[in-house]
Amino acid sequence: MTPVKIPLLDLTAQYAELRAEIEGALRSVVESQRFILGPVVEDFERAVAARLGVTYAVGCANGTDALLLVLRALAARPGDEVIVPAFTFFATAGAVWNAGLRPVFCDVDPRTFNVTAATLDAAWSTRTRAVIPVHLFGQMAPMEAIRALARERGAFVLEDAAQAIGAQRADTAGWVHAGAAADAAAFSFFPSKNLGAFGDGGLMTTGDAAFAERLRKLRVHGGERMYHHEMVGTNSRLDALQAAVLHAKLPHLDRWNETRRQNAALYDERLRHVTEICTPWVDQGNEHVFNQYTVRAQRRDELKRHLEGQGIGTAIYYPLALHLQPCFRELGYREGDLPVAEALSRDVLSLPIYAELGEARIDCVAAAITEFYGS
Ligand SMILES: *Cc1c(COP(=O)(O)O)cnc(C)c1O
Repeated sequence: MTPVKIPLLDLTAQYAELRAEIEGALRSVVESQRFILGPVVEDFERAVAARLGVTYAVGCANGTDALLLVLRALAARPGDEVIVPAFTFFATAGAVWNAGLRPVFCDVDPRTFNVTAATLDAAWSTRTRAVIPVHLFGQMAPMEAIRALARERGAFVLEDAAQAIGAQRADTAGWVHAGAAADAAAFSFFPSKNLGAFGDGGLMTTGDAAFAERLRKLRVHGGERMYHHEMVGTNSRLDALQAAVLHAKLPHLDRWNETRRQNAALYDERLRHVTEICTPWVDQGNEHVFNQYTVRAQRRDELKRHLEGQGIGTAIYYPLALHLQPCFRELGYREGDLPVAEALSRDVLSLPIYAELGEARIDCVAAAITEFYGS
């Protein structure tokens, strides 16, 4: 039997479904020859703001810049600390460093992989200026408790919502979307995110008009009027062609997220009897959007090789906790400092979960895992 090919992510089916819509949207931008900001970007910003229930949405070049520009807009003092999880994509901490601030790493909850008010509290100091809860793999962090802690201590809360567009949480005042649950949020439209561009793209959200204004300036070199600069910003705009693609895809996001949840439920069911695997735990108050379906697996590296041999794509998000990265050596962390993040880096494995995957492929992946453990 020739092994099946099941990649971790396959975007070709999604494109085939929306080809006409997207190509029409792209063509109209090309016909207009308005590539930088303008009405197409503004229309998308308005649409995504309405969709997420936020007042202001400001497009930018990528998710990393979204984090960076929000941190720059804070006008913190050099050396101020920003608490970030040790278990996340590198950009969360890299942006803090590049903003001239000091990343302070905290541990995460072993079931949700997210920070909690308690893990943030353990890393707090008198220099803490901001905290960045990451909604890892598409499940929101417990924002109500995090906001309460930050409010009490006067810290800014920035959601890293790069993996969680469309995710919701039953918050103090009802359901709240990722991106609407703190002072500001950063989104990424990297192609592998749940809403993916045809290249790079990013977005910042906030409910504060003055803060949104600062973000709009920072993405165009820090000035409202051309050639007059109140701040030193940078060039970080959402490309009009990318905004057109994203606007065409936006109406389909809910359906794709729902299908990802259904895929996850199928895996949960198929893998329930495999005691060596711990399937994702969803907090009662959350609607997960499964940017990744990430299990904790005994003999993880061997399992990964076994699945590769069967043509099944997987990935390790993330193999080295951030406090142990060589670039942060001078911060003085040691192995053992953040044991949950370190344990996760040794046993997590992400399986294919994209919306077009289909039940037959899920059966294949689950069967290959079951076969590996001989259960
Ligand atoms: C993808 C991602 C980012 C960065 O987004 P880019 O658009 O790739 O710059 C930041 N944080 C997290 C958690 C991400 O997954």
